[in-house]
Amino acid sequence: MAKKVRHVLGISGGKDSAALAIYLKQQNKIPEIEYFFTDTGVELPEIYTFLDKLEIYLGKKIVRLGSKKDFFHHLKMKDGMLPSPQQRWCTKDMKLAPFEEFIGNDECISYIGIRADENREGYISNKKNIKPVFPFIEDSLVREDIFNLLRETVGIPEYYEWRSRSGCFFCFFQRKEEWLGLAERYPKEFARAVQMEKQEGGKGYTWIQGMTLEELIERKDEILANSKKRKEHLARKKDNRSWQDILIEDGQDDESQACLICSL
Ligand code: SF4
Repeated sequence: MAKKVRHVLGISGGKDSAALAIYLKQQNKIPEIEYFFTDTGVELPEIYTFLDKLEIYLGKKIVRLGSKKDFFHHLKMKDGMLPSPQQRWCTKDMKLAPFEEFIGNDECISYIGIRADENREGYISNKKNIKPVFPFIEDSLVREDIFNLLRETVGIPEYYEWRSRSGCFFCFFQRKEEWLGLAERYPKEFARAVQMEKQEGGKGYTWIQGMTLEELIERKDEILANSKKRKEHLARKKDNRSWQDILIEDGQDDESQACLICSL
């Protein structure tokens, strides 16, 4: 008897994978679909709240996967080299590896929430038994459709109010003003990121290229002023919009750089 093909959908905590799970559930074509979330153990706290909410809507468990060793073990193994866009070992070791272990040698279809209006690259598994499919592209769904799907169901994750992507609290893809948002909302997590940078400071590793987090705090006013200017420019286009509406129109969230498995 032929082995059953597994259907899986990785939930990152981001808007697109959540919307895809909702979209596929509403179509009810794949009742056997398995949802999973690869947890680095250092994710943004709000992500866990959003996952719980989504789980209730989907009526099915989002299986939590993770590396057997924590982030700090991996960091030690890399001789203290903080992950960066050029050295994305965190994604490979803490997101992709647990996913590939979860699938093993099973034949599998992996549903990925890349939209029809983007051309995103990122880490996806190259294993031959894992076939990626892109329902939003096939059905021509764009950014606004994704926000509508979320608004009508579980809501847009609250962290989008101050941060443009899901993932680890210290993700090096976040903007400078998002680091400041982390400092304000999650001072403990921010302090941990500062400490990690300091521990490895002798080696010259910083989360932001060319700037330490302490320098970022010193330049807070200048960074916030620049961010305000950008937001005002966007807001001038239309008045009376909610932050969710502004987010829909603010296409500058650097999505093309993000890891599919981390923040899609
Ligand atoms: S969210 Fe950022 S820091 Fe975390 S695994 Fe993904 S790329 Fe690395």
